[in-house]
Amino acid sequence: MSNVFKLTEQGVKRSREGLFGKIAALFNRSNIEDSTWDELEELLILADVGMLTAEKLLDRVRKRVKDGKLEQGGQVRNALKEEMARLLDIPSKPAGAVPANGMKVILFVGVNGTGKTTSIAKLASEYKSNGKKVLLGAADTFRAAAIDQLKVWGSRVGVDVVAHQPGADPGAVVFDTLEAARSRGMDTVMIDTAGRLQTKHNLMDELKKIKKVAGKYEAVQEVLLVIDATTGQNGLSQARSFAEATEVTGIVLSKLDGTAKGGIVLAICDELQIPIKYIGTGEKMDDIAPFDPKSFVDAIFGEAV
Ligand code: GDP
Ligand code: MG
Repeated sequence: MSNVFKLTEQGVKRSREGLFGKIAALFNRSNIEDSTWDELEELLILADVGMLTAEKLLDRVRKRVKDGKLEQGGQVRNALKEEMARLLDIPSKPAGAVPANGMKVILFVGVNGTGKTTSIAKLASEYKSNGKKVLLGAADTFRAAAIDQLKVWGSRVGVDVVAHQPGADPGAVVFDTLEAARSRGMDTVMIDTAGRLQTKHNLMDELKKIKKVAGKYEAVQEVLLVIDATTGQNGLSQARSFAEATEVTGIVLSKLDGTAKGGIVLAICDELQIPIKYIGTGEKMDDIAPFDPKSFVDAIFGEAV
């Protein structure tokens, strides 16, 4: 993950070459007319920015154009980019420093198929290359294939996986994973969970249990919600349910490479007010980038300010 901008650029290639390319081109003309704003709004909505967020952006940019007497297309485009970056800059909730003897426990939640297991593998690899001692817990015990998938990734990355039989109690898996992590001197634990949200109650209870176990080990808990960028506004409403049920500390937006509607990033930040921590840019182990608002906006417009 050395070059955030380059990775982000790869990840948003389809958006840049599609709708955002058109948005950028709107401002190549020298005069901004009323119809330009209408076209902009239409393109933003097509790009999954969402109606409310699109209106908010337009209002802010139009106000800046009026107040600052911006006339040239390039100036207006820059104002739009700045307002987008501002919208994406959601402050992190302080998770607190990991105590000297403590661990960091990262829980991955989200709907099935969004990319939880793959994202765990990517981040485990990243943490490992930064010298962290990582242990994975296979608490998605619902399907045997899910446990196997995590084990396969674990051996590819070179980190151990604690797993029980299919159908086992996820809480027990978490307990064993943390016990093993403590006795082996691990500092980071990543927990894979089943993508179900049958009742918010179940999930909340499960998370509470995990938190309790984690507390025993002075562990700092992070809950990362994985959202599939290709599911657009639908994915956003699923995400809202998860965010209501649990205290989500950050978002991993997977499969950004698979959509031309990268505007979903703006909708997520604006509507959920939860920071995006990482973006998934492909299926391979290195296809993940930390999310940086300015890099994202520059990459999706295809130019730095
Ligand atoms: P889970 O059910 O949430 O654990 O989802 P998985 O990790 O099993 O991923 C589901 C599918 O999405 C797999 O085929 C992954 O290879 C694919 N996938 C995950 N992340 C990305 C990504 O960032 N880009 C692309 N193109 N595919 C991804
Ligand atoms: Mg999975």
